[in-house]
Amino acid sequence: MNILAIGAHPDDIETSCGGTLAKYAKMGHKVFTATATNGNIGSSTLSMEEIAAIRKEEARRAAAHIGAEYICLDYDDEMFFEDKAARLAFIDLVRYCKADVILTHNPEDYNPDHELTSKIVNDIAVMIPIEKIHTKSPAYDKIPIIAYFEPVNGLGFVPTEYVDITDTIDIKMAMCREHKSQVSWMQDNYKDTMADKDFFDDYRTIARYRGIQCGVEFAEGFRMANDAYRVVPRRILP
Ligand SMILES: [Zn+2]
Repeated sequence: MNILAIGAHPDDIETSCGGTLAKYAKMGHKVFTATATNGNIGSSTLSMEEIAAIRKEEARRAAAHIGAEYICLDYDDEMFFEDKAARLAFIDLVRYCKADVILTHNPEDYNPDHELTSKIVNDIAVMIPIEKIHTKSPAYDKIPIIAYFEPVNGLGFVPTEYVDITDTIDIKMAMCREHKSQVSWMQDNYKDTMADKDFFDDYRTIARYRGIQCGVEFAEGFRMANDAYRVVPRRILP
């Protein structure tokens, strides 16, 4: 299968479903990672162009851990809105990857870019095979299946599916650690609450918590999009 993970920002994918993507890759599936925005507000010292370039390179390096291709739609971080061009860009992205399965944000999350990414992915799934909707990449005859990964810190999210990532937790953490630019920026920008925060310990703890819930050491939790034409009577996640 072709697996496409779509996040709003560089680092959303690795922190939420990096272990699952590593597992798909180990099983021989083709994996793509993509972000709607380029993360161009993520620095208090560099220009928007400079930090966007760094963050895209970090995402590319993270993807390289599992042999995945990274694609950026280059929208402005926190200023991403829906219009015809955005819808077509997402359709073209999915068609380019010929995705069978898409992993993306939960419809409810703390961040507007996350929620809009989830909404557009869900909206366009049924448009992928429609030839009269023209994009650079051609239509293909499939409605991708969508799984939602959990929102930041898992708040309000009860998984219905779990993936055992005990054998890929180290790869997930290595992918997360490629996003070096964000640690100092988060600590600096949100001094009040995050000055000494160890983000990597948080990611590991959430994976451990989901592991406890399903009886393994480390896991990632998901919910399947439960809409018409994308429900199948079989397990899609690894
Ligand atoms: Zn994000």
